[in-house]
Amino acid sequence: LFITLEGGEGSGKTTIIEQMAHMLEQQGVPYVVTREPGGIDIAEKIRGIILNPDHIAMDGRTEALLYAAARRQHLVEKVEPALMQGMVVLCDRFIDSSLAYQGHARGLGIQEVLGINNFATNGRFPDHTFYMDIEPEVGLARIAAGQGREINRLDLESVQFHHKVREGYLIVAGMYPERITTIDASRSQEEVAGEINSCLSALLKD
Ligand code: C5P
Ligand code: MG
Repeated sequence: LFITLEGGEGSGKTTIIEQMAHMLEQQGVPYVVTREPGGIDIAEKIRGIILNPDHIAMDGRTEALLYAAARRQHLVEKVEPALMQGMVVLCDRFIDSSLAYQGHARGLGIQEVLGINNFATNGRFPDHTFYMDIEPEVGLARIAAGQGREINRLDLESVQFHHKVREGYLIVAGMYPERITTIDASRSQEEVAGEINSCLSALLKD
């Protein structure tokens, strides 16, 4: 079972993944938690290149191709082997991030970005995706209030850019209504975790 978490900045993906992992742990279900871009050495190095705040000159297509390259390596080296062993894979971001950020917000086109990603993943999609929907202002305020988060190139983007990201996610959620569950992430952590854990239980029974 391949599950991905999606959402804009400060939507709480990382926290919710920890809670999902906790639930799987208690049920004795084998799982791995991973993230994109990254999760393995090669992809973490690509992440460093993409997110380096010095790289403001990076072209949008270059960025999209680097994300797709990192995704490919992470998929074949970590995700697919874990799935083969029967583990649940919980991944912080996957293909829908590229569709929302590069495809829609950067204006490359959702279909174009889907094309290079289909090449990268050989058509592999997550079995299920939770999209953590939140107003960008609320998400960005959460980040500003938090501490110790790495500064990255995306921090230079305007609030309008993050609104485009959200718009992109809502389009993508509409494209894949079966696979993507939209979660109202503006609620308390307990409420969000409660909803996601009951969805996760249902997925595990299938
Ligand atoms: O999820 P996380 O915060 O670790 O993501 C790192 C950064 O990469 C974020 O600022 C996110 O907005 C950005 N990103 C992006 N395009 C993607 C995936 C992530 O701009 N396809
Ligand atoms: Mg995070």
